[in-house]
Amino acid sequence: MMSPAEIEKIRADFPMLSARINGKPLIYLDNAATTQKPLAVIERIRDFESGQYATVRRGSYRIGEEATEMFEDARGKVAAFIGARDRREIIFTSGATQSINLVAQSFGKKFIGPGDEIIISNMEHHSNIVPWQTLCLEKGCALKVVPITDSGELVMEEFEKLLGPRTKLVAVTHSSNVLGTINPVKEITRKAHAVGAMVLIDGAQGVPHKKMDVMDIDCDFLAFSGHKMYGPSGVGVLYGKYDILDAMPPYVTGGDMINTVTMERTTFAKPPARFEAGTPPISQVIGLGAAVDYLSGAGMEKIFEYETSLLEYGTRALSKIDGLRIIGAAPRKAAIISFWLDAVHPHDVVTLLDQDNIAARGGHHCAQPLMQRFNVPATTRVSLSFYNRPEELDMLAESLRKIIKVFG
Ligand code: PMP
Repeated sequence: MMSPAEIEKIRADFPMLSARINGKPLIYLDNAATTQKPLAVIERIRDFESGQYATVRRGSYRIGEEATEMFEDARGKVAAFIGARDRREIIFTSGATQSINLVAQSFGKKFIGPGDEIIISNMEHHSNIVPWQTLCLEKGCALKVVPITDSGELVMEEFEKLLGPRTKLVAVTHSSNVLGTINPVKEITRKAHAVGAMVLIDGAQGVPHKKMDVMDIDCDFLAFSGHKMYGPSGVGVLYGKYDILDAMPPYVTGGDMINTVTMERTTFAKPPARFEAGTPPISQVIGLGAAVDYLSGAGMEKIFEYETSLLEYGTRALSKIDGLRIIGAAPRKAAIISFWLDAVHPHDVVTLLDQDNIAARGGHHCAQPLMQRFNVPATTRVSLSFYNRPEELDMLAESLRKIIKVFG
């Protein structure tokens, strides 16, 4: 377990955490939206951009070759971090959203047709709904949705009923960005594979907080974003099993993803290059490599354990507030607490929390079908990181009590 002294040491690595807004400290509780960056990431990017910068994969001079090595080294770090067999299974994208669109538009284009079925769940982020809905409209296939219980868990019996010979793909989130629910992704994968379906895991909220092992889960694809795992924005990852990637057609075409081009015809490169058309986000990828090193150094097991204790602490603190209802009570949860106040709308709650320098999120969190399921227009959400302190949750509770008293 991380001690308070260890947490303070970690906090000292993140310059934004000591930023003062209107002279008061910042309480940053919007980590599911984006995380702050440690100095190790900021400095790595600064060093690269100020003393080592060149484009990659053109290689004819020394700094270009070295930049390519650093870039590919980051790919290796990401592969090791999620337990991939081979670094060629790591494709750099602009974020989880693009990673999912890549699978929908490339895998979907070739392997999904009229009458086929895709299964998602009722707790997906829009980025794991809309690409599939769009594909279904294009291809004449059907989108099936796994319902969720009142405590915010997938109804696994219903999932099993939806699976069948027409199921081509199951796309579910590892952890809900609203409820925090951690889904049984290994079991889902096993059951989907039993009917011959592929599995995509949306790992945007999972990879930054819990040790991920793609070989153990056996998923076919995993999508996640750099900026939610203490790395830069503008970079994300699609992991895919190599043989599946190799069978997929290009998604975006252009430079850097070809073998040969004539005016009549083009042959495409092997993965990952086939899916990385154009100049990639070079500094961001190198920064992501530094973020992975930072997380590995802190230890994913320790991070998950500490964040779980924070979640329990925060849940206890907020549960004591009259008129506050927590939405999402699954036994296995990531450190996210969404709630509804009887008396004040989430948009007002977050504006009022901001007066105490507490950064929280109010809205539908890009999960409108989930809001519809719970019959709320929006929620207030706090999402925690291993750099948060229990005292920050005490301050949150105090601020909420004040809001209810004044405006409720
Ligand atoms: N999936 C989930 C579960 C998310 O929380 C998010 C971001 N809120 C995304 C996908 C999309 O990530 P990005 O915007 O970085 O592409």
